[in-house]
Amino acid sequence: MMGRTQKADVAIIGGGPAGLAAASEAKAAGADRVLLLERDARVGGILNQQVHDGFGTKVFNEALTGPEYAAIYEDRCNERDVETWLKSTVINVTKDRVLTVQSDSGLATIEASSMIFAMGCRERTRGAIGTPGTRPAGVFTAGAVQNYMNVRNLAVGRKVVILGSGDIGLIMARRMTLEGAEVICVAEILPQPSGIAGNIVRCLEDFNIPLYLSTTVVEIHGKERVTGVTLAQVGPKMGEVYGTRRFIECDTLLLSVGLIPETELSTEVGIATNPVTTGAVVDDSFRTSVPGIFSCGNVLQVHDVVDFATLEAEKAGRAAAMWATTGELPEPTISITPGEGLRYVLPAAISGVDAVDFTMRSWKEEHHKSVVFRSGGEVLRRLKMPHMEPAGMIRVRVGQGRFKKVLDKNITVEVGE
Ligand SMILES: Cc1cc2nc3c(=O)[nH]c(=O)nc-3n(C[C@H](O)[C@H](O)[C@H](O)COP(=O)(O)OP(=O)(O)OC[C@H]3O[C@@H](n4cnc5c(N)ncnc54)[C@H](O)[C@@H]3O)c2cc1C
Repeated sequence: MMGRTQKADVAIIGGGPAGLAAASEAKAAGADRVLLLERDARVGGILNQQVHDGFGTKVFNEALTGPEYAAIYEDRCNERDVETWLKSTVINVTKDRVLTVQSDSGLATIEASSMIFAMGCRERTRGAIGTPGTRPAGVFTAGAVQNYMNVRNLAVGRKVVILGSGDIGLIMARRMTLEGAEVICVAEILPQPSGIAGNIVRCLEDFNIPLYLSTTVVEIHGKERVTGVTLAQVGPKMGEVYGTRRFIECDTLLLSVGLIPETELSTEVGIATNPVTTGAVVDDSFRTSVPGIFSCGNVLQVHDVVDFATLEAEKAGRAAAMWATTGELPEPTISITPGEGLRYVLPAAISGVDAVDFTMRSWKEEHHKSVVFRSGGEVLRRLKMPHMEPAGMIRVRVGQGRFKKVLDKNITVEVGE
């Protein structure tokens, strides 16, 4: 299958749900040779280890498991003749879209008319958050434990403390309890949980697992194996509150302290990135600052819900196919700026010729109830959203008609009451 230098219309790096959706749509949109490159032995990405249900509620209106959801898109790719290379890691890309792929058969070079980055995320580790203490066995990231338990059928510990209340940590608290471990508590440094409300109820409250807010691990104990951790409360500026230290005996510390987009290739090729998401700066066709390179899925922004990663990737796939076949896409002429209450908004620029699905996250933990789009001081669109999750990604569609009213080539997006 591999030769020295090959050509592809669209090359997609990463065969997770984003890569699968982008590949099948690129093919459906008329790209001839679509190449999906995955470093793992099978496609599906992180979904292969997520045996809980809850995937597909937006796209299919039902709660599938991760592998079930991934299988639908894998079948679609097969039906549409997407060429998939497994155990194939992209180790280098250039600005003129030449990829170097390493696999069991050696190195291959691919010249692609357009390229989609869909490399997903990796987990933040103990080193990244600088937790003090000894360095015994028994400190794991949540995703690693998920892989050990759900894919390899291995237990990792019996008495567990979880640091971080993001959805991964919450899901693993339930999973480990169901597998017979005692989850002593979940500690969260922020004053509010990071995961969605449904997961707090389903994964912690239903199993009587305490959640300690404004609390972190200030020391890890143990020589060969973890023997316990010291928890302490933190103040509003994240400093330790004197006199609140307490020792918790445990043999496992599970870290669920955030995901980091896999941005090495993007950085190497010089793509402009957003300092908040650390993913690429993209327009509403998901093209990056380097012509012909597109980005979608978790490498672009961390998604809570896979369905939104899929929808984003499908659009990126169609745009990459159009670029590969015609060399043209609508030019982005309107810039988008995050305003009051928002950490970021995506895309960073739009063409205004089509409806746009904006995604964003807010700064504050308060319950915002509306999203407002303004241009030149005028309100273009105000969307009432009474059920917005404080910690969740916000996704709203604005119809093309609204963009006709843009006054100064800029739209500011904000959240409020
Ligand atoms: C623990 C956890 C629980 C979740 N629960 C839910 C849930 O209940 N419901 C829900 O809707 N969503 C859930 N999500 C979110 C969902 O899983 C993600 O949104 C989705 O997996 C993102 O897809 P992706 O394709 O961008 O990334 P990934 O799934 O991470 O796939 C990226 C792929 O790229 C490959 N890759 C990376 N670099 C290279 C390279 N250089 N060369 C070749 N291949 C490469 C990787 O091997 C991987 O297969 C959860 C996420 C986590 C972590």
